[in-house]
Amino acid sequence: NRPDFGLGSWPARRARITPDRTALVENDRSLTYAGLADRVERLAGALARRGVRQGDRVAYLGVNAITVFETLFATARCGAIFVPLNYRLSPTEIRYMLDDSGASVLVHSGDTAGLVAAAGALPDGAVLTTEGDLEHAIAEGGPAPDTAVGLEDPCLLLYTSGTTGRPKAAVLTHGNLTWNTVNQLAHLDVLGSDKALCIAPLFHCVGLGQITLPTLFKGGSVEPVAKFDPGTILARIGEAGITSFSAVPTMLEMMWRHEDWDRTDLSSLTCVLYGGSPVAERVAQAWLDRGVKLLQGYGMTEAAPGVSMATHEGTLDHPVAAGVPHFFTDVAALGTDLTPQPLGGTPAELLVRGPHVFGGYWNRPEESRASFVDDDWFRTGDVVRLDEDGWAHVVDRVKDMIISGGENVYPAEIEAVAVRLDEVDACAVVGVPDPRWGEAGAAFVVLRPGAQLDEPRFRAHLEQHLARYKIPKHVLFTDTLPRNATGKIRRVELRTLAAETLTNGPA
Ligand code: ATP
Ligand code: MG
Repeated sequence: NRPDFGLGSWPARRARITPDRTALVENDRSLTYAGLADRVERLAGALARRGVRQGDRVAYLGVNAITVFETLFATARCGAIFVPLNYRLSPTEIRYMLDDSGASVLVHSGDTAGLVAAAGALPDGAVLTTEGDLEHAIAEGGPAPDTAVGLEDPCLLLYTSGTTGRPKAAVLTHGNLTWNTVNQLAHLDVLGSDKALCIAPLFHCVGLGQITLPTLFKGGSVEPVAKFDPGTILARIGEAGITSFSAVPTMLEMMWRHEDWDRTDLSSLTCVLYGGSPVAERVAQAWLDRGVKLLQGYGMTEAAPGVSMATHEGTLDHPVAAGVPHFFTDVAALGTDLTPQPLGGTPAELLVRGPHVFGGYWNRPEESRASFVDDDWFRTGDVVRLDEDGWAHVVDRVKDMIISGGENVYPAEIEAVAVRLDEVDACAVVGVPDPRWGEAGAAFVVLRPGAQLDEPRFRAHLEQHLARYKIPKHVLFTDTLPRNATGKIRRVELRTLAAETLTNGPA
């Protein structure tokens, strides 16, 4: 048979070493590595019989489940490309992604049937439900096609979160995902006896790349969680002896705020990772104070995703820093002449290079070209600085920076200070056009339930910690902030809202 060193070969390779270990757990069902390898071979055979060929795209729509992994590995085994979609998107957005990716098959769960119908999906026969059709295909399927798959072949089209514009599909190769796994394992104490919960969504790079693929590579077990509920997760940690999970900061905050937090036994946790957006200091500290090895990771879809990560040794001394660059990751600063320069203490746009960094976006040659300088340095669009210990601090996104009266103001810095007030639940600062300063800051402030805080006291707090030019000109109290599926604040919406509110007064 022909060589296959891609992700599709992982279950069979793992089954050779640890066939009887548990690979995946879901409710009362579990699957060993041997069982997973068998089902993946059969499903790959079934997909091939339905016409899936090397390079074709297979889309997936549904919550975290064992079937996500089965479809991912089987698709990869065919040399085809897996396209996980965000089930919280609108029918129009799903339609756009199906068309953009050119998926020839869609696998989806029953609870997304309405969304699929409204999206006006693919022709009959190209749509498989995870409940009935997939099981049927596995029962009848196999053997997998004899396809040569190399590390340079595409494995995954992963859409970015769409925080700064329309989501773009990063083309991640088998090699990108493998090298990211190697990087994560060089950093983390992941063991074959680990039991990881997969709570971050699998259509996002944090869910897939941070702990999940590394745990499966090592032969540990992964338990996909369909719906994030803080109380249920806390209960599951104690009851199942969970060792690790990856989360986005809003999940850590909800668990810490939950009434069961104090009485939950967290002693089994050896490694809790998070990333994707900044964390409030008080949240990170609460987890560290419980003795949990909480590690911040920083990265992006385009880097499959890890760029840097806190170390087990250093996390207590750097509770909110993004750690040190990964083993096979080079970092640099973008110089004013658009060439790579050494990264240091001065905030600068971060460039990254490494075998885990993608080669370009799907169908977007212009944007792909524009996102690299000096051939292979990817422009992250993030402003980063290193502290004296060489730890990275994500200052903010270049696009979110406010230039007010000629000074650069980073919203993230103001937001971090704002949430030090107990009364403040969340805060987001955006720039609005200003006749005098060019741009001025507008702070949206969400108070904790029942909390009292007026504008003068809020301002007084900011003024105590921040230079005058950084203080937002406008303060707008609001009930919630618009967020996407992974808890990121939708600043584009806030900018529009700020402009409207400031011109017309509150609605
Ligand atoms: P789009 O690229 O479509 O605008 P996005 O950049 O939010 O969306 P992702 O790839 O999901 O899409 O997110 C990566 C970005 O998330 C990074 O570029 C960075 O801005 C932010 N980020 C990731 N990790 C961290 C972290 N630890 N601290 C602060 N910000 C982070
Ligand atoms: Mg991005």
